[in-house]
Amino acid sequence: MIKPRCPLDGGKLIEVNGNTACESCNTIFPKVELANGRHVLDLRCLDRPTEVTLTFTIPQTPLQSGQVDRFGAATNADFRHPSREKIRKLYGTKLQKEFLYYIDTLLDRAGTAAVLDLGCGSGGNKKYLESIGFQNVISVDYMAPGAEYLVDAHRLPFAPGTFDLVLTTATLEHFYNPYIAFKEISRVLKHGGILLASGSFWESWHGNSCFHFTPGGLDLLCRSAGLELIDLWPGWGFIPSVASHALGLGRFKRVTYLLQGLFDFTVSILLGRDASKRHKFKTGGSFGLCAQKPETT
Ligand SMILES: [Zn+2]
Repeated sequence: MIKPRCPLDGGKLIEVNGNTACESCNTIFPKVELANGRHVLDLRCLDRPTEVTLTFTIPQTPLQSGQVDRFGAATNADFRHPSREKIRKLYGTKLQKEFLYYIDTLLDRAGTAAVLDLGCGSGGNKKYLESIGFQNVISVDYMAPGAEYLVDAHRLPFAPGTFDLVLTTATLEHFYNPYIAFKEISRVLKHGGILLASGSFWESWHGNSCFHFTPGGLDLLCRSAGLELIDLWPGWGFIPSVASHALGLGRFKRVTYLLQGLFDFTVSILLGRDASKRHKFKTGGSFGLCAQKPETT
């Protein structure tokens, strides 16, 4: 069972007179009520600002379009997996094939692998992961009802090297400083652990999204945090995402998905089925990625 730590100084959390407090700095963490009436520990420390110094190496060279041919392993893979629609109905999660593919690589360690679902929303990812045998999943969010703890992704309340997998889907655009958030994710990952993440590209004007991502930007973020980008893929297509997020045409979802299907089919006829040749992710509404923290630094 994964135990959170104090996000301010990494101290151990202890019970004091019915409250949860940090053994080291004595900060007391309140319980707050979520939208669904559940009460959870608030580890965001909203009234305790901390200054973070970010080290950045100059110069940096972002991923170039010519380098995309090393990606596409999960998209091209022929492996059995439940349909996205089925797991959405059963568990309320939108995990796509590529996420399922990389989650499958951890299945032989599902009984012991520590998993963080960062920005868990309704908590559907945990339900799905438990249904396939994962026993050590912790769901956190800034405020959503599926959270077991409220956390800030820029100040994660976990010890270094805690997790075998950090899963964070449809979240990256909500990080107000993605460089700091990626460093935090990297810090809490074990060496050899993997990050599965997705963030917006075309999905403008939704919620309080701050930064949207290109493949080159995602590569920079990973490298700056000491992670190696292993794979990259498009999320949903640009036609439904622009129609929904920029034009407010979400109610025409079926039509926009049909148009996207026609576009993708045409591209596959012209360029072949191989994902790297299609460079399909260049037009994704969002991008998903798999990155690994190297075994040794
Ligand atoms: Zn503390």
